[in-house]
Amino acid sequence: MSELKEILRNRPPVETAIFDFFKVGPGPSSSHTIGPMKAGNDFYNKISALPDDLISKAAEIEVTLLGSLSATGVGHGTDSAVLAGIIGNIPEKCPGSVLQDIKKNPEKKYEIKLKNKSITVGLDCIKFGPVKHDSPYNNTMLITLLDANRNNLFEVEYYSVGGGFIQWKGWKEEERGKPVHPYGTMKELHMRLQETGLTMHELILENEMSITGLTRPQICEKLDELMDVMYDSVKRGLNNVGKLPGHLGVWRKAQAILEQYKTNNFEADRLMGKINSYAFAVSEENASGGVIVTAPTCGAAGVIPALLYAMRNDMSLGDRALREGLLASAAVGMLCKHNAGIAGAEVGCQGEIGVASSMAAAMLAHARGYDASVVENAAEIALEHHLGLTCDPVGGYVQIPCIERNAMGAIKAYNAVLLATAEKNTQHKVSLDAAIMAMNEIGRNMNIKFKETSAGGLAVSVVEC
Ligand code: SF4
Repeated sequence: MSELKEILRNRPPVETAIFDFFKVGPGPSSSHTIGPMKAGNDFYNKISALPDDLISKAAEIEVTLLGSLSATGVGHGTDSAVLAGIIGNIPEKCPGSVLQDIKKNPEKKYEIKLKNKSITVGLDCIKFGPVKHDSPYNNTMLITLLDANRNNLFEVEYYSVGGGFIQWKGWKEEERGKPVHPYGTMKELHMRLQETGLTMHELILENEMSITGLTRPQICEKLDELMDVMYDSVKRGLNNVGKLPGHLGVWRKAQAILEQYKTNNFEADRLMGKINSYAFAVSEENASGGVIVTAPTCGAAGVIPALLYAMRNDMSLGDRALREGLLASAAVGMLCKHNAGIAGAEVGCQGEIGVASSMAAAMLAHARGYDASVVENAAEIALEHHLGLTCDPVGGYVQIPCIERNAMGAIKAYNAVLLATAEKNTQHKVSLDAAIMAMNEIGRNMNIKFKETSAGGLAVSVVEC
C-alpha cells in the first residue's frame, strides 16, 4: 500500500489532448493499423525533407515489422496500413477501401515523389521480422530508405505505443500548452475539482482549451463530430450482413441480434439486446476495416459507441449530457493510458476492453448527473472486473474474442453504473488509481504470448474452421 502511495504521489500530470486520444480512422487495430499508417506517413514526410544529395540516391524503402506487429500484422492489415501511410494516406482521411485495394492487389507498385525524384513502393517492401527483439516497445517497426546497392541512407525506429499513438527513437513530446488544472491521478483530479468547484466535464474542457488552444465552441463542435462518427459506425454495422474478411468465416451478427431483441417481451432483455447489437455493429465494422473512433483503441471501439447510442436512443439522454459524459470518459481513459497502458500488446486486453468499459461507465454515470465520486466508483468497478484479461485474437484477426468482448464490456459498464449508484460512496473500498496500478502491474508481468501475438490462450485453443 505504501509503495502504491509513493508511485501515485510522484505522477506527472496528464497532458494528452482529447482529440489525440479519440482518433478517427480505419480498423481493425489502433496499434497495428492506425499507428503503422501514421508511422509510414511520418517517414514519407521525413524523407521528403532530406537534403537533395541523399534524395538523388534514394532507390527503395524497406519496412521491418517486429514483435506483435510481425506476429499478427497480416490479420490486422499492418502491411497494407504502413504502405498506405508511405504513399500519402493519414488515418482520419483514409477510407477502409484504400486498405482493401492494397490487399486485393499485392503485386501493385505505387510511385511516390521525393522532390524531383520518384521511387516505387509495394507490399513486397514490408518484411515480417522477429517477434522477440530488444527494442523498448513490443510494437516496433524499422523503416529504411536505401540506395540502389541497398546501403542505408536514412532510418527511423518507430514504436506503435497503443491507441494509434506513435513514437520513435529519440522522440520528444511535442511542446504545447500545459493543463490549467494539472492532475496525474484520480485522487489529484478530485483535489482539483474541490479547489475549483468545477464539474468533471468543465475541468477537462478547460484543460483541453489550455493544452490545444482550441476554444470551447471548437471543442464542442469536434466532440459532436466524433459522436457522429460513432453513431455512423453503429448504423453502418446494423445495416451490413455477410461474412467478415479473413479465413475464419465469422458472420456479422449485429442486425440479427437487434431483430431478435427489439420486440422481446422483457424490457431488460430489449435494452441489453440493443446494447449488444450496437457493440457488435461497430466491432464488425472495425473488423472489416471500416472507419471508427479509437475509444480508446480500434479493438475496443464498440464499447463506448454502443452505450452512447443507447443513451441517446433508448435512455432519452440529450446531446449536451452525452457530450459531457464523453468528456468524463476521456478523463478516465487518459488516466489509464498515463498510469498503465491501453494497448493489448503492452498490457493485454484489460487495457483495451477493460479501459473502454471503465470509460463507458464513467460516461453513463456522469451523463446521468452523478457526482465525481460515483463516476470514479463506476469506472473502477468496470475496470476491476476486467483485470487480468489477456489479448489472444484467433488467427490474428480482431474478431474472436474481440467482437463479443465489446458487447460484454458495454454491458459490464452498464452494470458497473448500477452497482456504483446503489452503494454508499463512503463504503466503496477500491479506488480507480488502485485498479489502474493493478492493471499496470498485471500487464507488465503478463507473458508475451497473451499480448496480441496470437501465441497463447484462445488463439491456440480454438480449432480454426
Ligand atoms: S483480444 Fe482485446 S486487446 Fe486483443 S485485439 Fe481483441 S479487443 Fe484488442
